[in-house]
Amino acid sequence: MLLTIGAAGTAWLWLVHESVAGRTILITGVLTVLYGMHGILLLRVGRPNRPALSVGVLLLAESLVAGARCITAALATERLPDLFDPGSIQTFYLTAGAAFSLLVTVGLLLIATERLRTELERQSYCDPLTGLLNRRALALAFEDEQERAKRNGGVLSMLLIDLDHFKRVNDEHGHDAGDRVLIDFAQRASEVVPQSAYLARWGGEEFAVLLPSLSLQSAYQLAGAICARIAEPVRRPGVSYTCSAGVACLAAAEATIEQLARDADNALYRAKHLGRNRVEICDRAFAA
Ligand code: GH3
Ligand code: MG
Ligand code: MG
Repeated sequence: MLLTIGAAGTAWLWLVHESVAGRTILITGVLTVLYGMHGILLLRVGRPNRPALSVGVLLLAESLVAGARCITAALATERLPDLFDPGSIQTFYLTAGAAFSLLVTVGLLLIATERLRTELERQSYCDPLTGLLNRRALALAFEDEQERAKRNGGVLSMLLIDLDHFKRVNDEHGHDAGDRVLIDFAQRASEVVPQSAYLARWGGEEFAVLLPSLSLQSAYQLAGAICARIAEPVRRPGVSYTCSAGVACLAAAEATIEQLARDADNALYRAKHLGRNRVEICDRAFAA
């Protein structure tokens, strides 16, 4: 809108009512507003992206220079020189404009690079099908949570959850329907797990939940709640299914993610063996 007004006004002050001063005031006025608006926008939404903040500051500075040019043109008593006539104001304005344009271009490239880096980082921690954390992200979360739990002398619990007879879902309803079941599991399980938990796709049709500072008993109850939620019938054309879970719990000081996963997997194996759609606890947890 502003650009259209600027272009139409410039054309009129050039072709119909020739006025160098009018054109200078109009163009620099439009540039002052445009640079200013974009500068303020970047400063407001750019945090914590440093290139975005730098470009915001540059645009505000460019807005000030254009504003100063607009005011000097409006206050000029003599006829204004043409754009490329030598003169101190003209030289300063053109040099500053060229320098800002270069710096803003570099800044915009840095913003794009930063966005790409953030997106790649997000993708490297995310399972593309379900949007859950992947195994690598869970391992990092484990390290953080273990440090915290060690300081408090706490425990770490883990659930391994495997969908029951999932191969049948694929065989009877097709691979795409199988994918939709995996997405459905991610959604419904997310509704049940607490905010402090980390729900991840462990691989295939197997999921893991890391539960910082949650006792074995509470972890068992949560696993039961997840299985019960998943066993609720799904409205057609969705596919109803169940899952089984294994629960493990170790003192943070001696836990490794591999050991927790091994313990949870042993319990999960038992849950499958005992008929599926159920939760079992690792034997070692009872012995401790
Ligand atoms: P159980 O109750 O013993 O766990 O039986 P199951 O059929 O669930 O286990 P099995 O290991 O025999 O089969 C798992 C199947 O999961 C086989 C594989 O094709 C399927 N699968 C693994 N990843 C995906 C995926 O991303 N999408 C789909 N649609 N299927 C997958
Ligand atoms: Mg399975
Ligand atoms: Mg499996």
